[in-house]
Amino acid sequence: MIVLKSSWELARMREAGRIVAQALAYLVERIRPGMATRELDLLTEAFINRKGGVPSFKGYRGFPASLCVSVNEEVVHGIPGPRILKEGDIVSLDIGVIYKGYQGDAALTVGVGEISEEAKDLIATARGALLAGMAQARDGLHVGDISWAIQQYAESRGYSVVREYTGHGIGRQMHEDPQVPNFGQPGRGPALKAGMTLALEPMVNVGGYLTRIRDDNWTVVTDNGKLSAHFEHTIAIRQGEPEILTVL
Ligand code: MG
Repeated sequence: MIVLKSSWELARMREAGRIVAQALAYLVERIRPGMATRELDLLTEAFINRKGGVPSFKGYRGFPASLCVSVNEEVVHGIPGPRILKEGDIVSLDIGVIYKGYQGDAALTVGVGEISEEAKDLIATARGALLAGMAQARDGLHVGDISWAIQQYAESRGYSVVREYTGHGIGRQMHEDPQVPNFGQPGRGPALKAGMTLALEPMVNVGGYLTRIRDDNWTVVTDNGKLSAHFEHTIAIRQGEPEILTVL
């Protein structure tokens, strides 16, 4: 069932989304070579707590951390730990926050120090794919219009979009209906209506779209071992351009 949000619910989601955006900006300022990924998790949890929020990933189906941190060929759901970040790595940071009962969810990929031209182009493409999807996220269009725009954007630049993981509705729950795949056909899928709140999250790979899950049962990696990037915003559908809820 797709739940349309009232204006007071959107106000709550704006607050949750702002904490997510602030936490991501806080990490981007601090990430550097030599840092362990668990340090980023500790920073995230402390930041969210200071803001009065709750990290929504921690304990979700047993996930042990407040941050998903996915390095290089890791796509999503990487577990923070002792791994030391190196100059040239690319790191996807994904954060969810619950605030006054409502959720915000966003992600971005950032380079550690100087990164390759290939990595920069991949990151720019994943960010562009999210923007292309958001441009189709408006009352009167369909979920498939978002999916198609994301897929076209990434594939026209020679990349692939991950298929096993999708964007999603979001509100009181982190995952609500509808699913928002990163591939599809225009005009298909559920109709978009003002008041729907969605997390759009393209995951873009170098080479093929296939993924597998590591033995830790969480970390999703590219099957070909090549780089992957991930960008996500929580948005609200309205007439015209969507409102981005995960902004500073
Ligand atoms: Mg999400």
